[in-house]
Amino acid sequence: MTIAILPPRLANQIAAGEVVERPASVVKELVENSIDAGANKIVIDIEQGGHKRIRIIDNGKGIYQDQLSLALSRHATSKIKDLDDLESISSLGFRGEALASISSVSRLTLTSKPADQETAWRAMATGREMEVDIQPAAHPDGTTIDVEDLFFNTPARRKFLRTHKTEFSHIDEVIRRIALSKLDIIFTLNHNGKTVRQYRGATTDKQVEKRLASICSQAFVDNAIAIDFEHQGLHLFGWVANPNFSRNQNDLCYSYVNGRMMRDKLINHAIRQAYGERLTHDSYPAFVLFLNLDFDQVDVNVHPAKHEVRFHHARFVHDFIVSAISQSLQQDILTEHDSEQAGQTT
Ligand code: ADP
Ligand code: MG
Repeated sequence: MTIAILPPRLANQIAAGEVVERPASVVKELVENSIDAGANKIVIDIEQGGHKRIRIIDNGKGIYQDQLSLALSRHATSKIKDLDDLESISSLGFRGEALASISSVSRLTLTSKPADQETAWRAMATGREMEVDIQPAAHPDGTTIDVEDLFFNTPARRKFLRTHKTEFSHIDEVIRRIALSKLDIIFTLNHNGKTVRQYRGATTDKQVEKRLASICSQAFVDNAIAIDFEHQGLHLFGWVANPNFSRNQNDLCYSYVNGRMMRDKLINHAIRQAYGERLTHDSYPAFVLFLNLDFDQVDVNVHPAKHEVRFHHARFVHDFIVSAISQSLQQDILTEHDSEQAGQTT
């Protein structure tokens, strides 16, 4: 065989293998784009577990007509320009791959209108070369990405799709995770024309508590200890549940690094260590924790799906988390003890 450059659609389909595992991964990428675009209202319309349709509508800053074609191209991003930017990323996206990848394995249309552009335009990449066709359209300020028939042209992937119900539950979980981290953004999740979740914007303590309860349960809120620690550029805040509220599965383990949802071994290990003997070996703690640190202290370019990070000072971060959570749990026991004693003397 002679060596030849792959046609764009095929190259994008190969790249899609890494980020577009199932409908929920499409939802994650698209909602993160809406957040990066500054939207404070995001509607997610799902049909048939995402097999048939995934449509994300936002009121963010939009994409200008002359940039639509670039937005659908691989390695095209407005979020970084050089290696320095890559080393201190504040946006959720930066790889410039999601739209190109998703559009190579589905029928994707992108419709957008920046507030200062008179009309909206719709773009779609077609054929082997993924040439972009652009038409005028009607759309309010913001962007809609409509993804139909996911994996229609990649049968190997389509085979791995589970039932509509299962795929939808993964989407629901992605939205829960994101909704926990962006409390001020309003999210509406619809499935087959019915509104399944409605997360209202939360700014006051009371609203935050309500949103936390609607995502993690009232029982979690009732058992939650609020934490807020800062030390040498590290900031850890959020809620950890009282050890009595431990779970037999890891369904309430939510951690974020600089606003990005994570499944990080180091963080999970540190949290477990802080709970120590208070947890039996077969139970899991419940927590919603946000770790913020200087963007240049953490590498997010570890995995295409961006589930993992690498800390430059891993040991230091680990020990900080252990100590912050241990102190909070300890404090909680002391206050309970005090109130019990107070109860006995009256
Ligand atoms: P990345 O997010 O890594 O930059 P994407 O392929 O996800 O790559 O998106 C490509 C570009 O398209 C983004 O950099 C952004 O400029 C633009 N874009 C994508 N989605 C939206 C959106 N919902 N609103 C505004 N701009 C968007
Ligand atoms: Mg993106």
